[in-house]
Amino acid sequence: MIDCHVHLKTAVGRETDFKVNLSGICGQGAIILSLPPATFFTSRQKYPFIQRLNNVLEWCKDEKDFYPFFWLDPLEEEALKQIEICCSRGIAGFKIICDRFSPSHETAMEVFRFIAAKGKPVLFHSGILWDGKVSSKYNRPLEFECLLEIPKLRFALAHVSWPWCDEAIALYGKFLNAFALNPKNSAEMFIDTTPGTPVIYRQEVLEKLYKVGYDLENNVMFGTDSYADEYNCPWVEEWLARDKEILVSSGLSDEQIDKYFGDNVRRFLGIDQSVIEKKLPLAGLN
Ligand SMILES: [Zn+2]
Repeated sequence: MIDCHVHLKTAVGRETDFKVNLSGICGQGAIILSLPPATFFTSRQKYPFIQRLNNVLEWCKDEKDFYPFFWLDPLEEEALKQIEICCSRGIAGFKIICDRFSPSHETAMEVFRFIAAKGKPVLFHSGILWDGKVSSKYNRPLEFECLLEIPKLRFALAHVSWPWCDEAIALYGKFLNAFALNPKNSAEMFIDTTPGTPVIYRQEVLEKLYKVGYDLENNVMFGTDSYADEYNCPWVEEWLARDKEILVSSGLSDEQIDKYFGDNVRRFLGIDQSVIEKKLPLAGLN
């Protein structure tokens, strides 16, 4: 298993426990997200850019399957410069939460374009946002339709955009259609199933994803929103087991299940560059 959504809680630095905890539940790797930018509401303690970058790189150093993501505020004045430095230091991708701006904000779009040109993926928060502010409206799936205009951007919407899961699936269909028509230049959407979805919605959401009839077996990824420095093994194990049971009972093959629990992360990261043929979503006209 590769967990596509793991946070850092403190700036203390790497702890060996994480790897041990992961392997205890058949996990081999993770996308590890840096501490948040100073503008984000949980940032009681505000760390400078370079400290956040060094911290997440240190966490992933010498570990083949630990992938450092830098949590970027695209409206920060130095955002483009930060991306440049992050890429030169070996960052694997970026995490962004649109908490006070729409993804279509002009400055943000310029930043996304720059990231796409660097060949790096973006993991966006999507869905209801628990930050005590009026911010969820920026995170509805359709707000991300603007990313169609950014060639080759690989991006994921986290949490299956709960509670707007249907909207997220419809948006996926839109991106799938565009990608199938123009695979070399289109943006490609991934879905990160990090809960998100409360338990009673889980079966419904996973079944909808895999039975909707869209070609998405290469684009869905398992994640947990847990902390690397306090990995919640019993909780992660519970979600792993539940998801697996749902996928098996939905008739997915072992290969499809392996993709969900890890292989698709490698495609999202751009490590696996094998060309995937995608079927156009069916419509009366084709
Ligand atoms: Zn998260």
